[in-house]
Amino acid sequence: MKKAFNLGLFLGLLSVTSLALQSCNEGGSKKTDSVTIGTVDSIDDIDDLNKDTVEKEIKKDTIAVKGKKSILHHEVDTAKLLTDSVSPRYIYLTFDDGPLNGSQFIDSIATAKNIKINAFLIGKHDRMSKGLHKYYERYMNNPLVDCYNHSYNHANNKFTYFYSNAESAYEDFDKNEKELNLKHKIVRLPGRNIWYFADRKRIDMQSGSSTADLLYQNGYRSMGWDCEWKKGKPSGMPVESVSFIYRQINNRLRNGTSFSKNNVVLLMHDDMFQTRKAQKMLSDLIDSLKLHPNYEFAHMRDYPKQK
Ligand SMILES: [Zn+2]
Repeated sequence: MKKAFNLGLFLGLLSVTSLALQSCNEGGSKKTDSVTIGTVDSIDDIDDLNKDTVEKEIKKDTIAVKGKKSILHHEVDTAKLLTDSVSPRYIYLTFDDGPLNGSQFIDSIATAKNIKINAFLIGKHDRMSKGLHKYYERYMNNPLVDCYNHSYNHANNKFTYFYSNAESAYEDFDKNEKELNLKHKIVRLPGRNIWYFADRKRIDMQSGSSTADLLYQNGYRSMGWDCEWKKGKPSGMPVESVSFIYRQINNRLRNGTSFSKNNVVLLMHDDMFQTRKAQKMLSDLIDSLKLHPNYEFAHMRDYPKQK
């Protein structure tokens, strides 16, 4: 992705401010007081018709934002900006626990912004309703969205118990791959930030380690994350501001503190983006990152990308 670097334009678009936010965590998918794009009262109500509407709305918003120059409000260190412009850097937006209410908007945003994103899916959710199955199909049919394995049952949220038997845990991933027809041998362990691919392994806790070993021995790559945009309780909204997450990503890249240099993986959850406000935050984050001419959105199957 080569773009002409226009520092003047770049700086012009970045001013100072911040957006206020809210909260969340792993697991539940409660509906909030959704002021959603289109009219969505139940997860079965979305169809392809208002998919188009959603994408148009997002595009409209983006144009309005750029016109006003007032939404992308982040402090920028101009000296570092020049350094930033030199080497390519890769950003992996990863969304866990789908399909859930929220997945349909993430799918629309990826399309409207024309960026690659990554979805770590749960087979049990796909089986919960026709509506959720539709969101799964949207993800699978969108070439911008790569679908990966987050286990079938999500450990039923009893993580230590789940990982106490590596073989049955492994079987759960295997079942998910088959049920969801997943094409890539890429997993994310529920409730654990564990990396294991090539000869590189990093675990956040011992429980889960033997499952990662077994997956690795069977040709899977386990992918963790560098930063997380947390989900608030009970609102389900993103906890941190757009500016905060934007800075986290930049800092990881500049300081070389991500698991792989020049690559940064952001964890989010699908159900954080049920409301219009949360969708706007995600759009704003993407717009901010897109202003960097050397930043590229990537798929986890290509991780880690070098130049
Ligand atoms: Zn999860």
